[in-house]
Amino acid sequence: MTWRPGLWRQQCRRRGFVFPSSEIYGGLGSTYDYGHYGVLAKNNIRELWFRAMVQEREDIVALDSAVILNPRVWEASGHVSGFTDPLVDCRTCKLRFREDQLSVSACGRRPSVHPGEFRECDLTEARQFNLMFTTHVGALEDESSLAYLRPETAQGIFVNFKNVLQLARRKPPFGIAQIGKSFRNEITPGNFLFRVREFEQMEMEFFVPPADSTRWHEYWIKERYDWYVRYGLRETQLRVREHDEQERSHYSSATSDIEYLYPIGWSELEGVANRGDYDLTQHTNASGTKLEYVGEGGERYTPHVIEPAVSIERILVAMLVDAYDEEVVGERERTVLRFHPAIAPIKAAVLPLIAKDEGMVAKARALYEELRVRRFVEYDDGGAIGRRYRRQDEIGTPYAFTIDEQTLEDETVTVRDRDSLAQERLPIGGVAAWLDDALAREWRSPK
Ligand code: ATP
Repeated sequence: MTWRPGLWRQQCRRRGFVFPSSEIYGGLGSTYDYGHYGVLAKNNIRELWFRAMVQEREDIVALDSAVILNPRVWEASGHVSGFTDPLVDCRTCKLRFREDQLSVSACGRRPSVHPGEFRECDLTEARQFNLMFTTHVGALEDESSLAYLRPETAQGIFVNFKNVLQLARRKPPFGIAQIGKSFRNEITPGNFLFRVREFEQMEMEFFVPPADSTRWHEYWIKERYDWYVRYGLRETQLRVREHDEQERSHYSSATSDIEYLYPIGWSELEGVANRGDYDLTQHTNASGTKLEYVGEGGERYTPHVIEPAVSIERILVAMLVDAYDEEVVGERERTVLRFHPAIAPIKAAVLPLIAKDEGMVAKARALYEELRVRRFVEYDDGGAIGRRYRRQDEIGTPYAFTIDEQTLEDETVTVRDRDSLAQERLPIGGVAAWLDDALAREWRSPK
């Protein structure tokens, strides 16, 4: 399917993954709500990240900090003065654009050209526009109650550095991982979920002795790249790109992006930044609390920080795009989401071949009840079997178990593989164990 954000919006809506937010009121620019399958896919992404970052490691602990922090945090971090995008207005069409993205934006009057290229375009000089959403805490709405919705989860981690160091008894190298909503008043949102105003970030700050920071930076780029390959993204669609000096954020001494070949071109999926000692030093100076490591022998230093940061939304778009496939099987076209089984919202479908056959329905229901306590599975007896298979293909369900006449005779079922369409028969009593094995097997995209 060609990339038209509208088309993807429509497809994801029709299949129950993503809805435009507050749709009955006309929606709200670049905010989305997630339906059942979207929630399940996002849960899988979140859990797999957390498993790789926290559960499978000894050196990283979890944190869940508040969305609204003391506003001094954002002054110290540099976000109040520096978290800005250069904005230009067009006096003719009244649209706003990011100056650094004119070459990938469309003119309001002539969508076929970039802003500034059409003869009627009349762009203003660039102004700096702060991306943080503001709010007020408490009853008074004045300067003293001004607060911000966090634009990244990282600062909640830095301001808890001392708590974790002392109370979780950690010493560098160690990390703190956090998953949670972040908010940015993006000027040029769009491209569906790729750039939204409210997104769920997964960030990990890894604190290391200064002399080791380059080595750990390289280590985390590779870890994170391998995670994407492990969960099915094709290596032909992934690359690592190092930022040049002008491109780097105010806090960063080196950044590499893991990029995915989205239909809009190579774009940032995840950033892996070497933030140096910038944040801990800023917060030490602004708060008066020393954020440093003091060893048993009395040695002391401000750790350097390596940060892999990504949003679930960017991963979900990459996985949807990577998984989407159309093919002709026999005479018919089939649309299939070839998700890695660990990402697929529904792991298996249980289908009685004939919905009116009580014997088949009873066996299918019993199998469904057995499986669903362990995993997300679906029971479906609506319509022709071909249509039911297709419905599961469209949401990316890797396996379907069908109960037919033969099941009633010999207690076996058919299992159909989403990718190869191969079918085999299994004893019904062995389905749960078979599914466990199948889901644990290594999987590579057949695309
Ligand atoms: P970009 O250059 O695309 O605006 P960024 O460099 O500002 O991104 P970071 O501040 O490094 O992004 O944020 C870390 C990660 O958070 C990004 O790699 C991306 O996965 C995610 N992210 C940032 N902004 C958005 C957004 N508006 N919508 C969805 N995800 C986002």
